[in-house]
Amino acid sequence: MLFFENLSRFETIKHSITTKKSNRAYQNSLALHTGEDIQKIYQNRQELAKYFGSSAKFVSILQVHSSSVYRVDSYNEHGWSNLDSTIKADALITNLSNIVLTVLTADCVPLLVYEPNKGVVASIHAGWRGVVGGIVTNTINTMIYEYGCNTKEMVVGIGPAIKECCYEVGIDVADRFYDYPNALKSLDNNHYKLDLHSVVNTQLINLGVKDIEISPYCTSCNSDILFSYRKENSCSGRFMSCIMIKG
Ligand SMILES: [Zn+2]
Repeated sequence: MLFFENLSRFETIKHSITTKKSNRAYQNSLALHTGEDIQKIYQNRQELAKYFGSSAKFVSILQVHSSSVYRVDSYNEHGWSNLDSTIKADALITNLSNIVLTVLTADCVPLLVYEPNKGVVASIHAGWRGVVGGIVTNTINTMIYEYGCNTKEMVVGIGPAIKECCYEVGIDVADRFYDYPNALKSLDNNHYKLDLHSVVNTQLINLGVKDIEISPYCTSCNSDILFSYRKENSCSGRFMSCIMIKG
C-alpha cells in the first residue's frame, strides 16, 4: 500500500492507496463494475478491510465522471455490498467515524481530503471530464458550506494518476484546459501533453488550500504496481484510495 506523508501525520484518521498484488485475484483489483468474478473482488475487498478494523464500513459508488458529491450521513444504509450500483457520484464526504470513503482509479486522479478541525473527510474521483466539470471545487465547497470547514485547515493528497510524461490528448480535450496553460505542452499534429495533477493542484490553491501533497507515481510508468487504463490497453483493474475517521 502507498500512503501520503501529510495525511499520515494525523492519529485521528486512517488512509491507504492499494497496489497490485500478484498473489490476489485480478492482481488485487477492487472494482465491481468491470466484469470480473464479484466474489473474488469481494475477497480482495475483505482483505483490504482488515487494515481499517472490524468496525469499519466501506462506501463505494458508481463513478460517472460527473461533478456530483454524495454526503454519507448514515451508518446503517451503507456498506460494500449495496452502493456501487445505486449511487452515481464522483466524490464522497462524511464526518462520521468508521466510515471508509473510497475511490477507484486506473489513470484518473484520486484525491483524499481531511479537515482536522471539523473532523471531515472526502474522497474524489477526478478524470479530465470531472476536473473540467468542477468535481474538486464542488467537493471542497460542500465541505465549506455544509460542514463549516476551512480550506486553510484542509490536508489534501493527490494520488497516483497518469502524469504529463504519458498523458497525450487531442485538441478536443486540450481545448478545455486553456485556463491552465502551464498544464499543457504542445506536440505535433495538434496533440498535447496534459498535466492533470497540476490542474487539480491549481484548483486547490485557488480555493485557498495550503497543505497539498502530490503523489510522485505516474500510473503508466508504474504499471507494475498500479493499474493504468492506457498503458494496459483498457485494462479492467482498478486500485482503491481510502480514507476513514477513526472511531
Ligand atoms: Zn508516465
